[in-house]
Amino acid sequence: MRVEERDMPRIVETTDAVIRVTATCICGSDLWPYRGAEPLSSTPQAMGHEYIGVVEQIGSDVENVKVGDFVVGSFVASDNTCEICAAGYQSRCVHNVMMGEIGTQAEFARIPLADGTLVATPGQPDPELIPSLMAASDVLGTGWYGAVAAEAGPGKIIAVVGDGAVGLSAVLAAKQLGSERIIMFSRHPERQALARAFGATDIVEGRGDEGAAKVKELTGGYGAHGTVEAVGTQESMWQAINTTRPGGYVGYVGVSHGVELDGLNLFFTSVHLHGGPAPVRHYLPELIDLIWDRKIDPGKVFDLTLPVEDAAEGYKAMDERRATKVLLTF
Ligand SMILES: [Zn+2]
Repeated sequence: MRVEERDMPRIVETTDAVIRVTATCICGSDLWPYRGAEPLSSTPQAMGHEYIGVVEQIGSDVENVKVGDFVVGSFVASDNTCEICAAGYQSRCVHNVMMGEIGTQAEFARIPLADGTLVATPGQPDPELIPSLMAASDVLGTGWYGAVAAEAGPGKIIAVVGDGAVGLSAVLAAKQLGSERIIMFSRHPERQALARAFGATDIVEGRGDEGAAKVKELTGGYGAHGTVEAVGTQESMWQAINTTRPGGYVGYVGVSHGVELDGLNLFFTSVHLHGGPAPVRHYLPELIDLIWDRKIDPGKVFDLTLPVEDAAEGYKAMDERRATKVLLTF
């Protein structure tokens, strides 16, 4: 991991914008290639897919944002007009562009499909809102989608597997959506404390089958109505499925690595599985309003802020679990 000078991004398509990035961050999913869990490209790879910033330039067909707007975008560029987008699945837009291919851990970034991708805030944000708006770009939107996919809502018992920034955001979302009880799996005292601040009512330290059994015990033998899976491993996926009662919902938002589900075992769980890359763009207007009105403070997931020059140290801190989520500033 290193920081170097690159060419200034420019407008390529008439639907592009170029933004000056005011903050970016390191995602748990950036750790997969960092740790070598994904094949490395033969050339150095730009990193990052989370970003907030100010519009510097727009292409001739961009209408919804203008130069000078402060904007939040999601980790997938989307047209926001195709049938998949209209149904609320912008992360799988038929014209989607993964922002990780562009690399937003950078001072400037080209944003494809700017009209569909970027959401302008009501004005220039106060500095204390920056971490929360940054969280909205990915982890908050992803946790929110996980909670929605787990059918969080009034009267519901929701469990969350994964105490990283997405799992913690899912707790916040489950609370906002009115869930009655929120059970967080965590062994990490500081993350347990933040989970409780975000609305967790119960903490379970056990993992795997032991953790799932504990949730059954806490819920009269039934299991959770819904579980958010925010890790992406074989163990975490089965932990989420086994934590959920028959007829319940698993919202899986951890990027899957090496997960294989045996059909017969899955068959007898009778759970709904719904997940994938979160359509953050779908939730952004609502999330920006909640942040702007100071109703939620998801920026608390950032526990380390570094200048972008020190990005390598940020990766190391997250890899070693010394930091939950690292904010990079310019
Ligand atoms: Zn679309």
